[in-house]
Amino acid sequence: MFKSFVPPEFLAEIDQGKCRKCRRCIQNCGWDVYSWGGDRVLADDTKCVACQRCYLFCPEEAISIKSNPLAFKEHPAWSDDHRKKIYLQAETGGVLLTSMGASTPYPILWDNILIDACQVTNPSIDPLREPMELRTYLGRKPDSLEFEEDGDGGLKLKTDVAPQVKLDTPFIFAPMSYGALSLNAHKSLAMAAKELGIVMNTGEGGLHQDLYPYRDNIIVQCASGRFGVHSEYLNAGVAVEIKIGQGAKPGIGGHLPGEKVGMEVSKTRMIPQGTDALSPAPHHDIYSIEDLRQLIYALKEATDYKPVSVKIAAVHNVAAIASGIVRAGADMVYLDGARGGTGAAPTIIRDHLGIPIEHAVAAVDDRLRQEGIRHMASIIAAGGIRSSADAAKAIALGADVVSLGTAALIAMGCRVCGKCYTGNCSWGITTQRPELTRRLDPEIFAERLYNLITAWSRELKEILGALGINAVESLRGNRERLRGVGLDSLTLDILGIKPAGR
Ligand code: SF4
Ligand code: SF4
Repeated sequence: MFKSFVPPEFLAEIDQGKCRKCRRCIQNCGWDVYSWGGDRVLADDTKCVACQRCYLFCPEEAISIKSNPLAFKEHPAWSDDHRKKIYLQAETGGVLLTSMGASTPYPILWDNILIDACQVTNPSIDPLREPMELRTYLGRKPDSLEFEEDGDGGLKLKTDVAPQVKLDTPFIFAPMSYGALSLNAHKSLAMAAKELGIVMNTGEGGLHQDLYPYRDNIIVQCASGRFGVHSEYLNAGVAVEIKIGQGAKPGIGGHLPGEKVGMEVSKTRMIPQGTDALSPAPHHDIYSIEDLRQLIYALKEATDYKPVSVKIAAVHNVAAIASGIVRAGADMVYLDGARGGTGAAPTIIRDHLGIPIEHAVAAVDDRLRQEGIRHMASIIAAGGIRSSADAAKAIALGADVVSLGTAALIAMGCRVCGKCYTGNCSWGITTQRPELTRRLDPEIFAERLYNLITAWSRELKEILGALGINAVESLRGNRERLRGVGLDSLTLDILGIKPAGR
């Protein structure tokens, strides 16, 4: 058999002195790294992706996973990564697939932005003693409010307010499809969203029947492939999202490999079992803002005027595109930055296309304000939000809400190994193999998700308190409370923030 020129990335080593030969590692590994050699467990390093499931479930701590120390001769231009990819492509002639967010070391501007705090003349607020409001409403706000007398000496609202999506905290779960994720992972997200008073998003894979009871906490997506889209589905959520693009793979369609399209996925997506689910790069009925407008209103008509979100990848002229989307009637603009995750994408696309979410949020918020239409749509920021601090900075740059994809998967055990597209996730998250999916108990993993969002919400309250404000609404677009460190003047200008010390 042909031997690959690519050396194993990791070495899975078993301390045979400690090993009690229970073979749990063989059961736990979705990548078949381990096998029984008759008298001991053998490891095939070439299959190891460092998902660490074996290490965590070994009762004797007999396993260690290490980076392969085999070094390439150093070269300033020809990195190990470039050489490995060339070997692989010379062997296969194929486009290299990957998962999760971009691994290229572009600067992450969240790490160059600091948040203000109150001192002496402007008092801070203690969130443990005083109420803090995190509630957020997604959707179109009226130009102005009019009131009229209610007949009892009071006033009542006269203005018609468009339907809103109520969130108890400004976090949502990112669109991740059933098919890319296991049903148990989807259930965990839905159960956590319900408990938290927020929403999850179906992604482009339709909605499994088991999730219909969670309809008050779901946004249903309508993507270019229209997988699983029918009237009941469109009405099964609190809002509908038109997916135009995804941060990890702007300009290209979705790809769910046929191995992940089992009976249930096939029924939910309404496609034949075992076929690759390839959604086209464009919507074949959208070639202009006018076309987008027609689809937005068709979806509103089909859903008794539920709010419609339009999700785009952050690209170079994102501000102008977002302006067009809002003018086309969208109630939310979902911006997915270049570090956003994916279940499967060509590595070259994931790592080199798009722009980071920091620039995109600032540019879009600016543009919508300048045009006087900021109130007409909410901004959802996504694509590499790693902590409550990233979230607070995104909100201060102009987002209404931040969306968590990879962070939610990490809460469920994901090790960011980047191999979701293989369908072998040992953690039961991005696989359809029954022996792997059943290890993810929705009750337990919903609780982990609940804990994560609860912790971030508490931290956000701490940040608000330190800023001396008691509602997240007052943080939105409040760039005066941000300062840049080590950023050039042009970047500061784009972000609309001052340098530290000013
Ligand atoms: S799980 Fe640990 S103790 Fe059990 S067979 Fe594997 S290495 Fe040995
Ligand atoms: S979801 Fe699973 S396969 Fe995907 S990166 Fe995480 S651990 Fe790896």
